[in-house]
Amino acid sequence: MTGLDIIIIGAGIAGCSAAIALTQAGHRVRVLEKQTEWRFQSSGIFVYSNGLETLDDLGLLDDILATGFAVDGGENAYFDHHGTPLTTTHYPTARNGRVPAILGIKRAELHRVLSQRMDALGVQVTLGAEVTALDPAGGMTLADGTELRADLILGADGVRSWTRAQLAPGVEPRYTGFGIWRSVHERPADLTQKIMMMGPAKRFGIMPISDDRLYTFGTVAHPKGRHIDPTDWPGAMRAALAEFDGPAAPFLSELNDDSEILFTAVDEVVMPLPWHRDRVLLIGDAAHASTPFMGQGGAMAMQDALVLARILGAGDDLETALATFGTLRLPVCQFVQDVSRAVGEAGADEDLASLPQRHEQLRATAQDAVDGFYARLRAMNAEADAKIAALA
Ligand SMILES: Cc1cc2nc3c(=O)[nH]c(=O)nc-3n(C[C@H](O)[C@H](O)[C@H](O)COP(=O)(O)OP(=O)(O)OC[C@H]3O[C@@H](n4cnc5c(N)ncnc54)[C@H](O)[C@@H]3O)c2cc1C
Repeated sequence: MTGLDIIIIGAGIAGCSAAIALTQAGHRVRVLEKQTEWRFQSSGIFVYSNGLETLDDLGLLDDILATGFAVDGGENAYFDHHGTPLTTTHYPTARNGRVPAILGIKRAELHRVLSQRMDALGVQVTLGAEVTALDPAGGMTLADGTELRADLILGADGVRSWTRAQLAPGVEPRYTGFGIWRSVHERPADLTQKIMMMGPAKRFGIMPISDDRLYTFGTVAHPKGRHIDPTDWPGAMRAALAEFDGPAAPFLSELNDDSEILFTAVDEVVMPLPWHRDRVLLIGDAAHASTPFMGQGGAMAMQDALVLARILGAGDDLETALATFGTLRLPVCQFVQDVSRAVGEAGADEDLASLPQRHEQLRATAQDAVDGFYARLRAMNAEADAKIAALA
């Protein structure tokens, strides 16, 4: 199929990537975003080699590399919460080393690259657009009364997806019990690797996101529904991560009212197939939001876009294409969700007495765990690619 009229609800990573992939594949795409201006959360995001490969396929890798900070060799230095070195692992590069192992980038910068490409492709993006009624046969009504029709509608509206609520009202986000603190700082010139500090049932990470900036992230247990007022975030972030010393100390101590800080209580979405009904398909977090411990949610969202474009290009029947999309993407996204959830849950189940044993285990198994995860992901993607190639 080519030349479809496609409306995408949501201009996050999934929606923008889909707009780019589908326009480049010859479809006519319109994006509806409920925010009234491009305003993306502060902080950074990791993109590992599999996500960078997808950006390469979308034609965006050079722009992303020029904007973010690549740790080419994928070095990840582990410390305990006092700053004592534990071990160092390496994430894999891809495409014979042309694609770096990890890149950190400011979320707003990632969106700037995506939105500039949408502009260049002539994608029509409507900000401040709220869909109030959806007809799975391809129709929708906006809050201002506008009626729109499309051959295909994508619900790319994130973890709390309105579109998902219309398609599958029984599927709710599940609270994971974790809160994540993030903050942006000036990057010391010699901080060029990913740092992961292992606290007792807490983690603190540091990652460069540009030539002059880095971001930190801290994972803590957080009771469901407990609100922390943003004006209290600097003190609350310091207090929540007070155990961390060593590389964390300068960044935690400089937090103040002017700091770029974000706190997120983390939900996940585990949705069985189908991810579509009639002409409406869910992609990205709307279908499969993951805990962030593997740093893969954005990569899965981008890959959804590319896989969908390829599947649509390979067949003539929309219903078959959308069902095939779910069948191919669910195992990969579920694998990432399962590994990420297991990492989070293992980390939550720790006390000070268990740390020496954990460190011994980390030294013995961390590199194998990284290698095993990426080998499995690569194998699953290769299997899906082969099935798509066989459709054509
Ligand atoms: C703390 C944390 C850290 C993370 N770190 C990483 C990481 O390092 N690497 C990584 O790859 N992933 C990471 N992720 C996951 C990643 O952020 C998500 O997987 C990714 O943003 C999903 O993109 P999306 O487009 O599906 O959803 P979103 O990014 O949430 O975008 C949804 C868009 O839809 C819009 N919208 C919502 N409702 C409507 C509506 N009704 N109408 C129109 N528009 C609507 C929203 O305004 C938004 O723009 C992290 C997640 C969390 C919570």
